[in-house]
Amino acid sequence: MTDCIFCKIIAGEIPSVTVYEDDKVKAFLDISQATPGHTLVVPKNHVSDLFEYDEQLASDVFSRLPKIARAIKASDPTIKGLNIVNNNGEVAYQTVFHSHIHLLPRYSNEDGFGMTFADNSADYTPEKLQVIANKITEQIRD
Ligand code: AMP
Ligand code: ZN
Repeated sequence: MTDCIFCKIIAGEIPSVTVYEDDKVKAFLDISQATPGHTLVVPKNHVSDLFEYDEQLASDVFSRLPKIARAIKASDPTIKGLNIVNNNGEVAYQTVFHSHIHLLPRYSNEDGFGMTFADNSADYTPEKLQVIANKITEQIRD
């Protein structure tokens, strides 16, 4: 992809601060550093988002996450946990359309990173949940 900022980073045309690299993925520090050590893991092959992954690419990318996460945690004794975030689509806050996984080390509840999950459980009966699940299940493809 000629006009993709992460392809340019992978090609070395734009500078980045590398954390880990092999033939399938590159991990580099996110320029925003939402928390210190905030790292992006990107497949070297350009795909826009998770919807474009096949099983091989998923294995290539996701199998690397535990060792990179462990390395981040081991790099600083004040890191207590880590959030993994993967935005897919503009509505889901994706701004760079070369798929990437955010690894966000967590230091405390007040370290600047937050996520909100609404609790709408009161609106859902088991039957209503089953209808939703069935609609998803019938769309599962390899
Ligand atoms: P997202 O909103 O999930 O698409 O995240 C895109 C991320 O890419 C943001 O957190 C940006 O800070 C980060 N980013 C954009 N350009 C660069 C760059 N040149 N080097 C490192 N990170 C970048
Ligand atoms: Zn790309």
